[in-house]
Amino acid sequence: METKLKDKLGRPLRDLRISVTDRCNFRCRYCMPPEIFDKNFKFLPKPEVLSFEEITHLTKLFVKMSDIKKLRITGGEPLMRQNLVRLIDMLNSIDGIEDIAMTTNGSLLPKYAEDLKAAGLQRVTVSLDCLDDEKFRYINGRNVGVQKILDGIEAAQKAGLGVKMNMVVKRGMNEEDILPMARYFKDTGVILRYIEFMDVGNSNGWKLDNVVSKKEIFSMINEEMPIEPIDANYTGEVATRYRYKDNGNEIGIISSVTDAFCSSCSRIRLSADGKLVTCLFASGGHDIRDVLRSGVGDDAVMKTIRNVWEGRDDQYSVERLKHTDKGQIRKIEMSHIGG
Ligand code: SAM
Ligand code: SF4
Ligand code: SF4
Repeated sequence: METKLKDKLGRPLRDLRISVTDRCNFRCRYCMPPEIFDKNFKFLPKPEVLSFEEITHLTKLFVKMSDIKKLRITGGEPLMRQNLVRLIDMLNSIDGIEDIAMTTNGSLLPKYAEDLKAAGLQRVTVSLDCLDDEKFRYINGRNVGVQKILDGIEAAQKAGLGVKMNMVVKRGMNEEDILPMARYFKDTGVILRYIEFMDVGNSNGWKLDNVVSKKEIFSMINEEMPIEPIDANYTGEVATRYRYKDNGNEIGIISSVTDAFCSSCSRIRLSADGKLVTCLFASGGHDIRDVLRSGVGDDAVMKTIRNVWEGRDDQYSVERLKHTDKGQIRKIEMSHIGG
């Protein structure tokens, strides 16, 4: 099929990531450090957050004008948004949407997994950074134990949702948990993906020294449990995929720092307050909420979307080292756009 919309570097628009809230019940130290996201932190007031109707309307326009068939719901913690199941149901009824996935910390999956599946959610990616209970309680900043997340994974599997795992690897935090996590998930049918610690936002104190590279992660696993690369499922897939040589099960590494994949990046992000963000490391977004709310009509809204995508030339990961040499530039926080 002919590509409907291309950015300045010829990249199509295929993937829409919708952040439904900037709030979270966790305070992961690499994402929402508790000392910054404390009781005085000003989260978005309700009137500024897109309603389900607005999200659904915008998604319909996206589907009409681009190659988007897949949606990912994220946050903050998406399951903190009230009645989220209703939004999944609304998005699932849009003609042309083939796949809806969600990234979640998993803590609320026991409560919602079945309803989410019934509403049309197909897959979840659950974030878990180690199996060491004491360490996990510290990392998530809210004293939540590992078992709670394992219960969430089990609930998702029972409900029939596809399950993947995200583990952010940060040197000095959890590199010693790389192998225990691989051993634990190897035979479970759950695909574990390691994520290099990224310099998203300005509050997580990122340093290049903290990054454990894809190469290091690969060697560590390969030495104990031999793995081999396998082809990407589709162009623009962010994880490099491998399989265990003995049982054929899959494992992945997302190398946004040491091996950039900007040339095939076809993702746009819609923040909870209706900003279109064309790169995870952007310093700002393009307003679409006020355009929509002004009542100018669908053509004008689609024109705004078109201008944003056609004006896009982001490739931060390719240029990262230039930026870090120059000192910090202002970037949107991860909890605002959800990965
Ligand atoms: N709250 C949900 C969760 O934790 O899965 C969804 C939002 S969270 C921002 C999305 C993903 O980004 C999570 O897997 C999280 O671990 C990851 N993440 C957050 N900060 C990161 C960072 N600095 N570097 C790499 N990944 C990060
Ligand atoms: Fe919350 Fe997810 Fe960020 Fe952790 S990574 S603080 S769970 S948004
Ligand atoms: Fe896409 Fe920006 Fe990440 Fe490059 S740095 S892959 S353009 S989100």
